[in-house]
Amino acid sequence: MDEALELLAAHGPDAKPLAGGQSLIPAMNFRLSTPAVLVDLNEIPGLSNVTSGDGFLRVGAMARHRTLERSEVVAREAPLVAAAMPFIAHAAIRTRGTLGGSLAHADPAAELPAVMLALDAAFTLRSGQGSRTVCATDFFTGLFSTVLEPGELLTEVAIPRRPPHSAHAFEEMARRHGDYALAGAAASVAIDERGRCTMARIALFSVGDRPVLAEHARRALVGEPPTPDTIRGAADAAAAHDIDPPGDIHASSAYRRHLAAVMTRRVLERAFHSLETP
Ligand SMILES: Cc1cc2nc3c(=O)[nH]c(=O)nc-3n(C[C@H](O)[C@H](O)[C@H](O)COP(=O)(O)OP(=O)(O)OC[C@H]3O[C@@H](n4cnc5c(N)ncnc54)[C@H](O)[C@@H]3O)c2cc1C
Repeated sequence: MDEALELLAAHGPDAKPLAGGQSLIPAMNFRLSTPAVLVDLNEIPGLSNVTSGDGFLRVGAMARHRTLERSEVVAREAPLVAAAMPFIAHAAIRTRGTLGGSLAHADPAAELPAVMLALDAAFTLRSGQGSRTVCATDFFTGLFSTVLEPGELLTEVAIPRRPPHSAHAFEEMARRHGDYALAGAAASVAIDERGRCTMARIALFSVGDRPVLAEHARRALVGEPPTPDTIRGAADAAAAHDIDPPGDIHASSAYRRHLAAVMTRRVLERAFHSLETP
């Protein structure tokens, strides 16, 4: 780790960390990215650990997608992560791609940034100067951009333990399985003993330049029983007020907005339904 940080500091913006290479190498093939120096993170000891304790699931940045997909501790402690994994590309890409690479790459259509928003995760960033912690909601700053500075590495993701009476769900719509989504939603919800919603973190992706935490949808749900009408109202609020989706060759803005409402309604229905039937 020290050697990697020294190399990154020495070469500044000319250097790029290389994780699974599943986004960086295609970008280099297209000359969209032309780093003079690659700093390979693959052999750094301890950077792909998955551990649980002190109220958090801690995942090293170099943990492969496939490791998270198959991990029992991830399935138990952060089932939303496990649920999203099969939607990311194909098995060959998931075998190389890493959690840290996906988050640092910050593709607005990627699944894991949205999942981390829904789970209220915190990221540890390290440079030669020291380390800092940034919550997922502050990490993504725009299209393929984050708060990471040149010379800084994302080293660990901490996912807080699930509160009692909580549930999750994940949905996306893609043209073909494994394609990037036209729109998708990840939700983490909780209810109290009276069945009223106490938490609703709904993260939408592929609907803007970064993943979006649906604040209007949250407000429509918290304090209310999750009836079909409340859920529909929250989904409509998310689509109408939380996002301003772009149109492109894959989908118009109006279609993405429609999909966002449908995806939000489905994740909420599934998550709340699983709480009714323990
Ligand atoms: C055909 C294809 C389909 C795909 N489909 C999907 C999909 O549906 N959904 C999806 O989410 N992804 C998809 N991906 C991308 C895949 O998930 C990548 O693995 C991921 O986006 C990047 O992870 P990586 O480890 O390969 O990172 P790399 O490609 O090695 O790096 C990506 C970027 O992050 C930086 N970086 C990497 N690690 C760190 C770190 N620890 N700290 C700081 N910066 C770092 C690199 O310098 C680079 O700029 C697809 C890729 C391909 C080739």
